[in-house]
Amino acid sequence: MRHPLLTLALSAALAAGCAREAAPPADTAPAAAPAATATTPAEADRDEHSYAEPHKVRITDLALDLALDFAAKTLSGTAIYTLEWRDPTATELVLDTRDLRIVKAEGLAADGSWQPLEFALAEKDKTLGSKLTIRAPQRPQKIRVGYATSPEASGLQWLTPAMTEGKKTPFMFSQSQQIHARSWVPLQDTPSVRFTYSAHVTAPKDVMVLMSADNDPNAARDGDYSFRMPQPIPSYLLAIAAGDLVFKPIGARSGVWAEPTMVDRAVAEFADTEKMIRTTERLYGPYRWDRYDMLVLPPSFPYGGMENPRLSFITPTVVVGDKSLVALIAHELAHSWSGNLVTFSNSKHAWLNEGFTSYVENRIIEDLYGRERADMENLIERNELREEYATLDPKLQMLALKPGTLADPDETSTATVYTKGAWFLQFLEQRFGREAFDAFLRGYFDKFAFRSIPTETFLAHLKSELMAKYPGKVTEAEIEEWVYGPGVPASAPQVSSPRLEAVDAARKAWLDGGALPDKAVTAKWSTQEWVHFVEGLPETLPVERLAALDAAYRFTGTPNGEIAQRWYPLAVRSGYTRANPAIAAFLQKIGRRKLIMPTYTALAKTPEGLKFAEEVFARARPGYHPITTASVEAVIAKAKQGTP
Ligand SMILES: [Zn+2]
Repeated sequence: MRHPLLTLALSAALAAGCAREAAPPADTAPAAAPAATATTPAEADRDEHSYAEPHKVRITDLALDLALDFAAKTLSGTAIYTLEWRDPTATELVLDTRDLRIVKAEGLAADGSWQPLEFALAEKDKTLGSKLTIRAPQRPQKIRVGYATSPEASGLQWLTPAMTEGKKTPFMFSQSQQIHARSWVPLQDTPSVRFTYSAHVTAPKDVMVLMSADNDPNAARDGDYSFRMPQPIPSYLLAIAAGDLVFKPIGARSGVWAEPTMVDRAVAEFADTEKMIRTTERLYGPYRWDRYDMLVLPPSFPYGGMENPRLSFITPTVVVGDKSLVALIAHELAHSWSGNLVTFSNSKHAWLNEGFTSYVENRIIEDLYGRERADMENLIERNELREEYATLDPKLQMLALKPGTLADPDETSTATVYTKGAWFLQFLEQRFGREAFDAFLRGYFDKFAFRSIPTETFLAHLKSELMAKYPGKVTEAEIEEWVYGPGVPASAPQVSSPRLEAVDAARKAWLDGGALPDKAVTAKWSTQEWVHFVEGLPETLPVERLAALDAAYRFTGTPNGEIAQRWYPLAVRSGYTRANPAIAAFLQKIGRRKLIMPTYTALAKTPEGLKFAEEVFARARPGYHPITTASVEAVIAKAKQGTP
């Protein structure tokens, strides 16, 4: 998550998701800094969060045949795996599962028949789920598993019609990152394994089904859908959604899927998508995934966005009418190069996905909207990093994490993997010059396209393709410090923003007893400037001061979630109870964790606030995603234990 004020107990259920917000930071007291030494290649490449044994046998293709049942809240059917047996002595296929009912396992015999195979489902581990071991002494080329999901699958959310915009049709969607794909498909659920896939899905006739695959904008809505994803992807990019979804194009290869009442607003908000694709192609080479469409989800989507290939999943909270939050689209699009094309091999190297993507996102914003806006966004993120690092465990401040650091892959720090990761690349760009660095990055995406790699592979490439070619620009010690050290090195390049400095001056003038910033000035402020204004206010303010701000700028009830995310916690901390009805409405309407968790956290700090939070949560809960529910429950439970 991006917001630094968050203090959450970390648990298995606090799932990340890509998006522009990963997991909440571990808010623990700083420990002694571990030694900055590299990990061995074998350790760095081992995925601690999967039972799979891809060095023995590897899935190369997945074929799903599933029935989607809204009443039962299940997906059920079969998965057929095409296998590449690598170890000549291997006779077992080990898969990751969570809360799945396994009906049968079969192997494809030489005569084309399916023959039953023995299988064993181990007891459930809280974080990893249940290991499924299929005994296959004949080492068949294909294995088929029959299964059904649980209504509580951590990777799926089922919404009643009342929880949608249109209120007529039920809705469901998946969120597989980090390790939730295993709750709806038995898989080698590790980003080190890539596979192509196809799917046949049946659903009620009035429901459109989409996947992270070749969605056809002209497909007949008949309850019977087929998909193909011809490029190999890691399991966390497997995605499905179903509901009353219609399509409107933005450009020749991009468009929006959304509920009918949302689609036009989203098309207008995301009108620059084609330009963004062209900019990224000019910088980093061709877009390799055919179409780039966006699916706008109901407000309960727990993240900002998820870069499911060919179909980014997007929160409706960025549709604010002025394109001020489209950095999210730039981010999810950028993943088509960093993450989806070149992928981290396991969660110790999450920065290879998110740091590169945040860097590319910022380059897209600069190209489309100018350096000033790009710098403002950088500064806001770096301010958040600074605040988060004041209390963040140094072990989580390293770009390449040591083995054993993460009990759950969702425990990575957003400040580290997104912001420090991008900052490291901005440092390299500054030292080597933009021209050389752009060429290097383009070469990196080409060389490692459709591969999953650890940090060390990137560093070897950096040394041979940049440091060796331009000696004397960067030392090995500087690289070590960035990648294996905590904190932000002193060599980090700094940016300034005259527009944010003007906001600082206006805020200070008011706090010092002067007038509020003039409406003629604030009329030109973007979301970034408003966010900066509110973030810079003191921890608490007298109620009448908040009332004065509200009278001038109408913060309470704002339709802009980024402002609400910062304003409501301030209102709560200050005892500004006039905002309570709007806070309740906000928490009940929005399920995006980043936006609502700071308010829940602020409420949980006092007995009255906690009581209010519990009442609101009870009403909001049916509309929340399991991931959001778990986060709120953790905050409330912690407050009740009396450990704020
Ligand atoms: Zn991302």
